[in-house]
This record gives sequence, structure tokens and C-alpha cells, in this order.
Amino acid sequence: MKYVVCVPDGCADEPLDELGGRTPLEVADTPVLDSLAARGVVGSAAVIPPCFPPGSDVGNMSILGYDPAAYHTGRAPIEAAAMGLRIDADHVAYRCNLVTVDERGVMVDFAGGHPDSAVAAEAVAALDRELGGEVTFHAGVQYRHTMVAPIAFAAAECVPPHDFTDRVAPRPVGAAASVLDSLMQRSRAVLADFDIAANQIWLWGQGRQPDMPAFRHHHGVEAGLVSAVDLVRGLGVLTDMTVATVEGATAWYDTNYEGKRDAALDGLAAGLDLFVIHVEASDEAGHAGDVEEKIRALENWDRRILADLITGLDSMGSWRLLLLPDHATPLARRTHTTEPVPYLMVSSEAPGPGGVYSEAGIADLTPTPGHVLMRALVGAPVVST
Ligand SMILES: [Zn+2]
Repeated sequence: MKYVVCVPDGCADEPLDELGGRTPLEVADTPVLDSLAARGVVGSAAVIPPCFPPGSDVGNMSILGYDPAAYHTGRAPIEAAAMGLRIDADHVAYRCNLVTVDERGVMVDFAGGHPDSAVAAEAVAALDRELGGEVTFHAGVQYRHTMVAPIAFAAAECVPPHDFTDRVAPRPVGAAASVLDSLMQRSRAVLADFDIAANQIWLWGQGRQPDMPAFRHHHGVEAGLVSAVDLVRGLGVLTDMTVATVEGATAWYDTNYEGKRDAALDGLAAGLDLFVIHVEASDEAGHAGDVEEKIRALENWDRRILADLITGLDSMGSWRLLLLPDHATPLARRTHTTEPVPYLMVSSEAPGPGGVYSEAGIADLTPTPGHVLMRALVGAPVVST
């Protein structure tokens, strides 16, 4: 048996006037997805558990079959894992954005003008020289970096800078707030020496290393994953999945859809039991409020991934497929929501009742916790969490 999990990030949406009261999932021309839904089971998934923020870290952890209530410690250590960092028990990882904040404290750009990664790495090295010691700074990609600090630094509530664009972003509160605030303020002098739009760091998303059992032990199958997003790749690293790298996988509209499909088929042909394909484009379109790109991302899934994926799976024998987003990113809201999302489960062997893969198709259903779907997919014995 082969298993595939398809994650069109943030694809679920809300009815839009400009689409005649329909959603992108309802408008997109997706004949393969429609035919899969007609032979499968369409249900409602609560990918974001109660009391959790609707982040991709939480939603994708659910999809991989790990209950966020048991395993989620924060966003930063997951991204740190993708960067090859392991956080020991005495330390905590912070996401360290290079941001642009004006003199009034307004968050002008949470991405600090998207600095070149090489220049950003020099700036992060300077932060480590000037502010490091008790804390260490580790360079990532563009504006996304990591700070590792003693565990006492974890005692603070910090806000994600992307939630405060063009607004005054509140400073940290809590026992560690003053030391974090001091680092953010002192970073201004360090970054002033660099020719970048970012003028300070923003610390948030902290957490200790999560203690996630390996996917093979948790679910009893050997799995691989492809994604251009560190948050998703990090979950693969933490659970000892095979994390594939695909040239041209960009986490943007122009990503290499065929490359991701082939990574899945190659991985399964090479002996993996399960493969997760994650594509960020639909989420980016949601954040941008770009209706056309969101519809195009769904059509790209259908034409450039699902069509040949199903043909390839058929040639390998029996298979099961699970498709769902990690949260909704409604175009009108331009941010994630906690609403349940539609999921689709299809078995090559056992036809389901059939359904329509859309938000309206699940409106009257009781949501299933997102993290139990993986176990339902692989049909493995239940392991206590
Ligand atoms: Zn997401």
C-alpha cells in the first residue's frame, strides 16, 4: 500500500461576491480533484485545535498526525530544525526577523525589505558578535533568522510582526520582556552599519525543542516530504522523515509543481510507504488577496500534480490519498483563520460515498480533529500519545 498526503496550504476560503458567492475551490477547474472526491470521502477537519493560533506550524503538525496539544512547543524550534539547529534542554529558540520599524514604533515591513540572504547573514554574524554571549544568532534565509537563548528567556509573550503591518507592534510582556526588548533596541545600532532596509530585529515564536517521536514509530510507515517552507521541512526533520529537495521549489506561485509530484513518485518507487506534498502558493495568494492566483494554484495542483500522480500510484498497486490544507487563508481576510477545513480521503480499493470537495460540502458535518486523519489514512495501530 502506498500513501500520499497533499497539502495545498491555506486553500480553504469563504464565499466571495466577485466569484458570485462561490469560493476558489468551487470556481477552480479541477477535474481530477472532482473525480477523486466523487469516489472518496469528504469530511470536515479541525486542523487547528481549540485555543491554538491558526499557524502553519500547528496545522501541518496536525496533518502529520501529531496532536499539537501534546507536541507543539512553538514555531521557532521547528524552523530551527530545518536549518540544522538542535536546541538543548536548557535553551529556547526564538524566531529573529529582520524588520523595519519607524520612529513611531510602526511595523513598516515585517520582512525588512526582503534582504539578500548573503548580506543578511553578515548582519546576523554582526549581531552575534555585538549582542551574543548568553544568546547566539543563527542566519537563515532573507529576513528569517533564529536566536537561541537560555530557557529563562522563554518567559514572555511576543507577537508575530506580520500581524502588525502598518501598526504599532506591542513589545514583549512577561518576566523576560525587558531582556528581549533590550536586545531588539540594541540591534538597531548593529544593523545601521548595513545597507539593508531592516533596522532592527523582532523576536517571537519562541519554544523549546519539541519531543516528537519519529514518523515511523508514531505511524508505523516510512515517510518522505517535499516543501519549500522551512516550517514544514522542519517538521519532517524533527520526525526523521526523508525530506526531499526539489530544484525550483520556491514557496511562491512559480514553484515547481511537477518536480514535487515526481519527488513523491520517486520516493514511493524507491521504497517509502508515504509521501507528503506541500505547496505554499495558495496561502501566499490568500495573504495577497489575489483571487486569480489562488484559483490558478488549485488548477496547477490538478493539472500538474494530481493527474500524473494518480496514474503513477495506479501503476504501483493499491494506494490511499489524503488531501487537505493546514488552515484556511480567506482572500477577504488576507490572514489565517481557525475554521475547520474540508478533507478528502480516497482509497484505490474501497470506494467511498462520494462528495464535493468544497467548504459548503462540509458545512453541516461535525469536524474531526486534524491529527487523527493520518492514523485513519495508514490504518496503523493506535499509539498512545
Ligand atoms: Zn499554512
